[in-house]
Amino acid sequence: NTTLLEEDKEIYDLIQKEKWRQYSCLELIASENFTSQAVMEANGSALTNKYSEGLPGARYYGGNEWVDEVENLCRKRALEAFRLNPEKWGVNVQPYSGSTANFSALTALLSPHDRLMGLDLPSGGHLTHGYATAKKKVSSSAIYFESFPYQVDMQTGVLDYDKLEQSAALYRPKLIICGASAYAREWDYARLRKIADAHGAYLMADIAHISGLVAAQEAADPFAHCDIVTTTTHKTLRGPRAGLIFFQRAPKGEKNSDLEEKVNFAVFPSNQGGPHNNTIAGIAVALKQAASPEFRQYAKQVKLNASALAEALKSKGYKIVTDGTDNHLVLWDLRPNKLTGSKMEKICDYLNITVNKNAVHGDSSALVPGGCRLGAPALTSRGFKEKDFVQVAEFLHRAAQLALSIQANTGKMIKDFIVALEASDEVKSLRKEVE
Ligand code: PLP
Repeated sequence: NTTLLEEDKEIYDLIQKEKWRQYSCLELIASENFTSQAVMEANGSALTNKYSEGLPGARYYGGNEWVDEVENLCRKRALEAFRLNPEKWGVNVQPYSGSTANFSALTALLSPHDRLMGLDLPSGGHLTHGYATAKKKVSSSAIYFESFPYQVDMQTGVLDYDKLEQSAALYRPKLIICGASAYAREWDYARLRKIADAHGAYLMADIAHISGLVAAQEAADPFAHCDIVTTTTHKTLRGPRAGLIFFQRAPKGEKNSDLEEKVNFAVFPSNQGGPHNNTIAGIAVALKQAASPEFRQYAKQVKLNASALAEALKSKGYKIVTDGTDNHLVLWDLRPNKLTGSKMEKICDYLNITVNKNAVHGDSSALVPGGCRLGAPALTSRGFKEKDFVQVAEFLHRAAQLALSIQANTGKMIKDFIVALEASDEVKSLRKEVE
């Protein structure tokens, strides 16, 4: 029973360094958050030792009496956190991540080569929604199923529902996936339901990014219109890294009466083995927290902070995709400033500001993302308010100005840009200020 420090100092030291990086950086990755001590305690518990293939009450291993209780509690809390009636909705809490949750949902709903439509990655969609380039089927969701993505309007950056309706009429998909990784606007689930119904298609929402906002009723309710809802648990929901699949239950013989069996079978045995019980316990803790009044306040503040960030950047003359945000993220279009997302990410890294380069609709090449995605969830967990995000915008503005002046001297090559930025006294002094 030696401690990590006694057993393996190398790993211990690396964890301490990462902990310090998280503590000392301005964390703006929209898909990240700081989970609670309680969640981490559950996640690092003895539950990691247990095999429990199957579902509570029907396992392929003995010794699961406490694990069954953990998983049942997690399922109950998942339904409660989203105000779902257990007679109408069920949930599988075993997916190891958002990607495996999505692939299991597709396995449940589709046969190989069935057609699906999801938001294109350059429009803000996720890989697992059927991503393929002109040259290559990238995601298994495009390799094993036929995918025809829909896009945002190239002028406004807002989802083009009319075009989606026309494309669906031609393509006749069996599944429409809504939800995104880099889309700052609200979803019209009722309209999507109509489009799906016109072709007898399933409608699935992947609310990975916004599930904390949905739980807090700070985003539209996908459950009112979708057959299946998937989510990750570690973004706005602030839990450990994993996924959930919610499925509609219906009386025998009606549409969706078979979803429970299909989803559960798709997760295990089709796509996964033993559940990660320690993670499921961590999810249960996070879901309990997500049902609290404090979490509602947190979700409200996330939105206020993201809006404050968008407005502050706009007031400095920057272009924000869709001209603002309805949720936790801001997509910053750097193309008018003649700066790439990669360079902005690099200089921010050096300044201890963590962002990620991101494609912006209409980018000329997927290899040169035209913008950066900025998110408010993590810093809001650390107590940041609107005025703090105005200060963050000021740092980002100064970073962009420095990046432009360095670029003016070094030309386009990112290698030269990095060398010059690391040597810049102005960059060093801004880094001190951020710290
Ligand atoms: N779905 C969406 C919308 C996401 O943004 C992500 C990850 O960022 C995923 C699914 C995949 O989640 P994971 O990284 O846990 O596999």
